[in-house]
Parts: sequence; structure tokens; C-alpha cells
Amino acid sequence: MDLYEYQAKDLFAAHNVPVLPGDVASTPAEAKALAEKYGTTVVVKAQVKTGGRGKAGGVKLAETPDEAQTKAEAILGLDIKGHIVHRVLVTTASDIAEEYYFSFLLDRSNRTFLAMASVEGGMEIEEVAATNPDALAKIAIDAIKGVDLAKAQEIVAAAKFPAEVADQVADVIVKLWETFVSEDATLVEVNPLVRDPEGKIVALDGKVTIDENAAFRHPEHAALVDEKTEDPLEAKAKAKGLNYVKLDGQVGIIGNGAGLVMSTLDVVAYAGEKHKGVKPANFLDIGGGASAEVMSNGLDIILNDPDVRSVFVNVFGGITACDAVANGIVQALEIIGDAATKPLVVRLDGNNVEEGRRILAEANHPLITVVDTMDNAADKAAELAAAGV
Ligand code: GDP
Ligand code: MN
Repeated sequence: MDLYEYQAKDLFAAHNVPVLPGDVASTPAEAKALAEKYGTTVVVKAQVKTGGRGKAGGVKLAETPDEAQTKAEAILGLDIKGHIVHRVLVTTASDIAEEYYFSFLLDRSNRTFLAMASVEGGMEIEEVAATNPDALAKIAIDAIKGVDLAKAQEIVAAAKFPAEVADQVADVIVKLWETFVSEDATLVEVNPLVRDPEGKIVALDGKVTIDENAAFRHPEHAALVDEKTEDPLEAKAKAKGLNYVKLDGQVGIIGNGAGLVMSTLDVVAYAGEKHKGVKPANFLDIGGGASAEVMSNGLDIILNDPDVRSVFVNVFGGITACDAVANGIVQALEIIGDAATKPLVVRLDGNNVEEGRRILAEANHPLITVVDTMDNAADKAAELAAAGV
């Protein structure tokens, strides 16, 4: 889960990373009131979960409360790379002597954590990496040892931070590491980390990605979820404990096991090339226990997706045998009743497949087509989806 800048900065503040006071506003009048409260020059900043807001006109200085109102008016409602601005952060402005870059992230390819730091902050870090790679220091972090003051000093030296800010930056780096670890983040990024004319280091921007797999030990993170921008089907699936990701195609997919579902997406995308280019509409892994309840919850979500034209149920019977899955499908369709109107292609294989297929044949449901192989089933599901496009 990506956080908004204001949420990231709230976490920074909670871990004593220096940030400037600020609060969010959803109307120009609220922005004006905040500027009045701070009584100083403020920055009005679009709160959208994408970078490059500055370039897109989403970050503006305002010297007076009236100006804050005008700037908020201009920014609210902006479309920044497909993200509509519903709220702005109004924060006291800082004068900037220098802009630096700093981040901690999960480095999957090297199976470790990584610190990245540069004294050339402000601009997009991809640009620094491409045009001046030597200016971006990358230091692997041992997950067990973490980042103590000595490690932070090593990072500071590698990135060649000026001597007069070295101690302060090292101290901020240790606090950012504390934020990264204790919030279970996979990314903590500050761009720019600035030195103001008095020599003080401040995080002027913040980007944090929280690892949702750690949600069980962070009940407080639930408050960070933004229901407004969450996909309604994904929210419903999450509430039912289903592993669902909405995609932009027309063939609904249900399978058991992440690997099987991933390969199902591939064969459906391939089959779709022959059928008007239809594509998978979602990822849904119903896991090992494909009970009637789980199956009906899954079908309910997929059948309520207006983009879905056909559904491919691809199950390999293991501990939960094919007969239980077949019964699950039949019962699920009974539970859903008349709301089920889209054709289902079912491919069963594995443990007790004969009995599973017999149950489906006996049910003789008008919406179900049983196909024996994965490729043929994908082709049939794509064909049915194409017919409905
Ligand atoms: P981003 O474009 O989405 O990364 O948004 P940032 O929060 O990084 O802001 C973009 C740029 O606006 C920064 O790199 C700064 O140059 C400028 N900026 C942001 N806050 C302030 C501030 O308080 N004072 C000044 N002078 N400039 C600011
Ligand atoms: Mn930035």
C-alpha cells in the first residue's frame, strides 16, 4: 500500500524525522484557514499517489492566506498522470540551500535492503541514475544488522554529503531506518531532503510503501487505507479474505494456487489473441480449501465485475479433491441464483477428477461448460467472452 505524502510525513514525525508542520485541506477555504493558522509562507501540495507533482503544477508556494486559497483552487481537481487531486497538503514553506535524495527500499533481486543517497536531489532520481550514476550511492543493508550510526555514517560518506551536514544527515538516516523497520515498509523515500539556509536538515517530501503482508501486526495502519481510491471489488474481496486483483480484461479467472492462477492468466491472454483480443479480467486465487462458500464468494465478486463476459474456473484438485470443488461450484451457483448470468468454463483435474466431472455433468447447469484441458478451456472462455464484447 502506497501512502500519501501527508501520511508518510505523519509517520516520519512519529519517528522523529524532521518535517515541517502541515495539514490537509479538501477545499480552498480550508487551505486558506490553514495558511492563516500557520501565519507564514506555505506550500500547497497536491495529495496524489504519484511522483512529479511539482512539474505537473501540483506544488505551489503561497505567501498569503488569500494566495493559498487561489493556489488550492488551481490544484484541487487537477489530473496528475490519471490521479485526480481531492486534497492538498498545506505546509509551512522552507527556504532551500541544497536538495538531497535519500531512500531505503527492498532490493528483491539481491535479496536484501538497499540505501540510496545522493547530494543531487530534487529532480527525479531515475534521471540522476541515468545521467550521472556516480552521484547516486547504493549501499546494501544487512537485514539483521540494520542501520546504526556507524552504518549511517558510511552511507553519508559514500554519497559525499558536505561535512557541515554529515552528522545531522546520519542521525536522520538512522531515524528513517527506524521508520522503515517498525512500520514494516518496503520503501521510504525522501526527495528532496533539504538543507535550509540555517543549516537544518528537513524532509520536504515523503513517499512510503507499507508491506500489507505485515498488516496483522499493524492494526493502526487500517486507518491509512483510502477507501475513496480503492477499487470497490478489491475492497469487497479483501473483506472476504480473498486474494483478488482487478485487471482490465473480460475473462474472469478463478483458480486454486497462485502459480496455477498466474499460468491461467497467461493461457487466457494467449487464447484471447484469436478472439478479438480479450484478456483476463482479474487474478483470483481461492487457495487450497475450495469450499462452496469460498467458491461462491469468489464467483460473486467476479460476476459483479461489469467488464466480465465469461468466467474460467481452473482447479487442480489436491487436498481439496475435485468432487468437493465440483459440489462447491454447483452450490455456489445455487447461492447466487438468478444473479449468475455469465457463462462458466470449468476445467478440473487432479485428485478424484472423475467424480468431480460426474457431479458437474449430473448438475447439467445451463451456464457451465466443462472442458478437459487448460488450453482448450482457455480458448472456450475467450471465445465466449468475445461473443459478448
Ligand atoms: P514531487 O514533485 O511530487 O516530488 O513533489 P515535492 O514535494 O518533491 O516538491 C517538488 C519541488 O517543489 C521540490 O523539489 C522543491 O524544489 C519545491 N518545494 C517543495 N516544498 C518547498 C518549500 O517548502 N520551499 C521551496 N522553496 N520549495 C519547495
Ligand atoms: Mn519529491
